[in-house]
Amino acid sequence: MAEDDFYDLLGVNRRATQEEIKKAYRRLAREYHPDRNPDKNAEERLKRVNEAYDVLGDSEKRANYDRYGTADSQGINMDGFGDIFSSLFRGFGGFGGGRGRAGPPAGQTLRMTIKLSFLEAFFGTEKEIAFRRNIKCETCGGSGAKPGSSPKQCRTCGGQGQVVRSMGGFMSVAQTCPTCRGLGESIESPCSECRGQGLQNERKETSVPIPPGVEDGQGIRIQGGGNFGHRGGPPGDLILMFSVEPHESFVRRGLHIYMETDIPFPVAAMGGEIEVPTLWGNSKMKVKRGTAGGTVFRMKGKGVHTENGRSGDQLVRVNIHIPKKLSKVQKEYLAQFDDVFD
Ligand SMILES: [Zn+2]
Ligand SMILES: [Zn+2]
Repeated sequence: MAEDDFYDLLGVNRRATQEEIKKAYRRLAREYHPDRNPDKNAEERLKRVNEAYDVLGDSEKRANYDRYGTADSQGINMDGFGDIFSSLFRGFGGFGGGRGRAGPPAGQTLRMTIKLSFLEAFFGTEKEIAFRRNIKCETCGGSGAKPGSSPKQCRTCGGQGQVVRSMGGFMSVAQTCPTCRGLGESIESPCSECRGQGLQNERKETSVPIPPGVEDGQGIRIQGGGNFGHRGGPPGDLILMFSVEPHESFVRRGLHIYMETDIPFPVAAMGGEIEVPTLWGNSKMKVKRGTAGGTVFRMKGKGVHTENGRSGDQLVRVNIHIPKKLSKVQKEYLAQFDDVFD
């Protein structure tokens, strides 16, 4: 429902003044008023126009909408965290910023690495991050033009953003207009705050919820969390990559945890129960009689537990502990043991 661009709904461009927005809204409100407009869709249209004006008519909500694509003052859209395993990815070939809107090109996608300890990644955590990014210049609203003035159509390219250059003969190539650099507009009196770029730099601090079970080399993408483009271009994305420290005794593969432990020779021979450390606390593990070194036991449910209810196991490889030094008594017992098996 709210997916339509609010600017499109009001029929104004992104750098319209508050006064222009108000005018456009009044005109549309009259046009779609059910008393005047018998069209069945008019009422629905009016509802959406009201919705758009509710945001764009309020400069604070409008600024949030421009920055984050939502009027929600929470800021960065964290929707991607709902289903973390579908939004997790490795590498990021082919991810461009922007939302496919016509107009000034989107800003850059920013990338950041978040370091996590093994346990933070295992159990999930919350991380404070701080980074700098370009947002719309508050003085000119991102247009780059001095307040009160507006960008004019570029004379070099006539607003096309491209010029056709003859290469001699029948050859000609289209090139990005050198005057407006493809924007199709030129600014006669640039905003003094941003020197016509339409951007200002801010330090953004935010807290990022990290769900349990993220792995080294995985990442998440926060749509619209990156740099805004020049002169009102939409923001690129913010990509957070996870770098997870190894653990000294546990190794993780997918949802499972792998570890090795020593068991005393008599336990291996006769069977028994030993205590094994797990990330969920120490736990008892049964060892079968006649267990050979290298046998792997599975401790169900002692691996990673994800938010969406999946869980892994802990796999324990046992080594038989053979003492290097034996006392006189131990030697005698082993000799008798050996005799019995002869
Ligand atoms: Zn400015
Ligand atoms: Zn031009």
